[in-house]
Amino acid sequence: MKNRRNFVLTTLPLTMGLIASSRSLALEPEPPRLSETDPVAIALGYRHDAATVDKSRFPNYVPGRRCAGCQLYQAAADQPWAKCAVAPGKLVAGAGWCSAWAAKA
Ligand code: SF4
Repeated sequence: MKNRRNFVLTTLPLTMGLIASSRSLALEPEPPRLSETDPVAIALGYRHDAATVDKSRFPNYVPGRRCAGCQLYQAAADQPWAKCAVAPGKLVAGAGWCSAWAAKA
């Protein structure tokens, strides 16, 4: 009887934690990625890979600048995808770039 009680007391918190984690994951699905053909992306020259930016159309592009180094990138720089204020509800690539790029303060 004591073993059963100890088992319940030790596994119950873990079980409740797993249930809570799975619920929070289920409530927050990952947003879709911003498509390069999205009108916002086209207007801003957004590319998933900054190396493919159309430099003739966006001469303000500076090699080496990437979304991960932009102040509008809403995740740590080592995260491959993140939300961005110019594309609400979408994710942009850390390796990407657009003409709204601004250095992190
Ligand atoms: S505003 Fe910054 S983070 Fe957002 S898409 Fe443009 S360069 Fe990337």
